[in-house]
Amino acid sequence: MRLLCLTIFAILVSGLTAQKTYLECGRLITATNDEVLTEQTIVVEDGMILEILSGYPRLAEGSEVIDLRDRTVMPGLIDLHVHIESQSSKTRYLERFTMDPADVALRATTYCDKTLQAGFTTVRDLGGSGVNVSLRNAISAGHIPGPRIVTAEKAIGTTGGHADPTNGQRSDLMGDPGPNEGVINGPEDAYAAVRARYKKGADCIKITATGGVLSVAKDGSGPQFTQEEANAIVAAANDYGMTTAAHAHGAEGMKRAVIAGITTIEHGTLMNKEVMDLMIENGTYYVPTISAGKFVAEKARQPGFYPAIIVPKALSIGAQIQNTFKKAYAYGVPIAFGTDTGVSYHGDNAREFEFMVEAGMPEIASIRSATEVAAKVLRLDEQIGTIKAGLRADIIAVPGNPTEDIKLMTQVNFVMKDGKVYRHDQ
Ligand SMILES: [Zn+2]
Repeated sequence: MRLLCLTIFAILVSGLTAQKTYLECGRLITATNDEVLTEQTIVVEDGMILEILSGYPRLAEGSEVIDLRDRTVMPGLIDLHVHIESQSSKTRYLERFTMDPADVALRATTYCDKTLQAGFTTVRDLGGSGVNVSLRNAISAGHIPGPRIVTAEKAIGTTGGHADPTNGQRSDLMGDPGPNEGVINGPEDAYAAVRARYKKGADCIKITATGGVLSVAKDGSGPQFTQEEANAIVAAANDYGMTTAAHAHGAEGMKRAVIAGITTIEHGTLMNKEVMDLMIENGTYYVPTISAGKFVAEKARQPGFYPAIIVPKALSIGAQIQNTFKKAYAYGVPIAFGTDTGVSYHGDNAREFEFMVEAGMPEIASIRSATEVAAKVLRLDEQIGTIKAGLRADIIAVPGNPTEDIKLMTQVNFVMKDGKVYRHDQ
């Protein structure tokens, strides 16, 4: 009885003290449709969106009001492809041998902060060393500021493939990494590697279905998993309720991943009509990462930025991605927003919007690809991705009207995540 009374008392007190915050929005993109509403008020309580009111209602004395009347408000942005642990630099390849996990983690806290400040309240991290799991946990526990992280932990590859962590090393250092390190050969290994990721705390699974640009290896586009291996990866991930992503440049590797039932194709550089038809048929999303393509093509011209074996791959693959996106969008392939930031610089994620619009996507569609659509890909659309009553209060704002000038997406000046304000420029 005493416990019951105390419980009721606690509920009453919290009911009385729950603070409502009123966000007055000059323009509002809810991302549930293509409309840009004007003069709306979002009511936030306990980290959640309580309701959306039209106009700016007169409020009782003492209510907390955030004036965003001169801005466009929208859901917190979602980047489906980042590497939150690291960032490209001339010393990147050496750092593997010089940095301890604690060094990686401490430096990455600044990447987390930059990402959140740029308006990205959720990211899907598609591979690192395992520090990404700790970063996710530290952010969700409130120890450091950063985006909500959905992580693949370590990407899964095949021996010598794009995600073999020992590529290019001296032979006595190479060893023979296996499923526990994310390197597989055969369907049984595929199951073991997915289960190891699950055990280590991964939320999703990433495979490197073809060669890649930035691994110290010759081939950037050939298939690297057999059909049976790809099938086993996706089947194992499905068993654990995890979605899957495939890094892929060449068409054959892409095709195998799509047939296996992969959730997203990343980069998709040499995508052909057959693959696009298969993706539409299977509902496979294309995550273009145009930012990464442009970044590597530009840096490859800088002597010494990348090891020599990478330069020709960066020049040929990188430059093509925007054009592939253009074709895929026009053809009707489902598109979800992702940048491969970490290849490009953290905090620059929103430049991707401009690249997408340049290649023919309407501004509002590009914004929805990074909100509503991306949340669906993560299967988190009941929690994030739109401005709707009952969802988490992940809300950002930009000056002016980004549906008229998409570059404004790089000028985020208000960030709220789970109802907490992390940025509010006056
Ligand atoms: Zn990547």
